[in-house]
Amino acid sequence: MNKKTVEQSRLFASSTCQGGVIADKRTVKVGAVTFGEKRPVLIAGPCAVESEEQINIIAAALSKLPVDMLRGGVFKPRTSPYDFQGLGFEGLTYIHAAAKKYQIPFVTEVMEVAHLEKVAQYCDMIQIGSRNMYNYPLLKAVGKLQKPVLLKRAFSATIKEWILAAEYIMANGNEQIVLCERGIRSFDSCTRNTLDITAVPIMQMNTGLPVIVDPSHATGLSHLIEPVSRAAVAIGADGLMIEVHHDPANALSDGEQSVKLADFSEIIDNIYQYCPK
Ligand code: PEP
Ligand code: MN
Repeated sequence: MNKKTVEQSRLFASSTCQGGVIADKRTVKVGAVTFGEKRPVLIAGPCAVESEEQINIIAAALSKLPVDMLRGGVFKPRTSPYDFQGLGFEGLTYIHAAAKKYQIPFVTEVMEVAHLEKVAQYCDMIQIGSRNMYNYPLLKAVGKLQKPVLLKRAFSATIKEWILAAEYIMANGNEQIVLCERGIRSFDSCTRNTLDITAVPIMQMNTGLPVIVDPSHATGLSHLIEPVSRAAVAIGADGLMIEVHHDPANALSDGEQSVKLADFSEIIDNIYQYCPK
């Protein structure tokens, strides 16, 4: 690969983030869904695929709502090794079948290079989670695929580190990148993380890439999803990714931040009422 300075990279329009050059806006297509157009894309689903029945209940309900994409982790990056780690490839077949049945594209996380090829065969978009934003071998490997990538911000990442993580993917040949702000660590423990809402226009202006917001991991609290999502669309986010569960109290991961499926239709209406059509 040719040697370049940071300022010469494809994505780094302004090394100071003080404004200046504004990158051309790009769009990213996932099947019939387009990120970066007027209406923010809505991704929803459980934190983790827990069973065939669970993902079918959720996918069936979401398919009746204005939800563009399904989410669901099968390889879960849990803080404790004793917590539910996901169903792995078995879970992948469940979410793939549910997505196919209800005709909705899906995104799922990959944590290891060794899993990438197989997951990419099934999913419509690959998620690189917050903990793996610094996993450079994984970034290089997704860069070599022609598959849309959802690149989440590491909870400790500066804007520059996040841009350069996207640059790793792009420099290896894959330009289909959507960025996801999911909150960063701060001194406050009232919410799970602190949503850096400013990052949305900063990343849009610097990279031109679509930027979505994940209010679920940003706040950790289901009652904050609606107001925080409204803030995200108001600032111009290109989409939202929201965790939803039919039975949050018994969810195997992130129940506290998961919106109840039964409440979701009204929440969507409230979030999208002022959105561009
Ligand atoms: C997720 O979206 O499933 C997830 C684990 O989030 P994050 O990587 O942002 O913690
Ligand atoms: Mn989660």
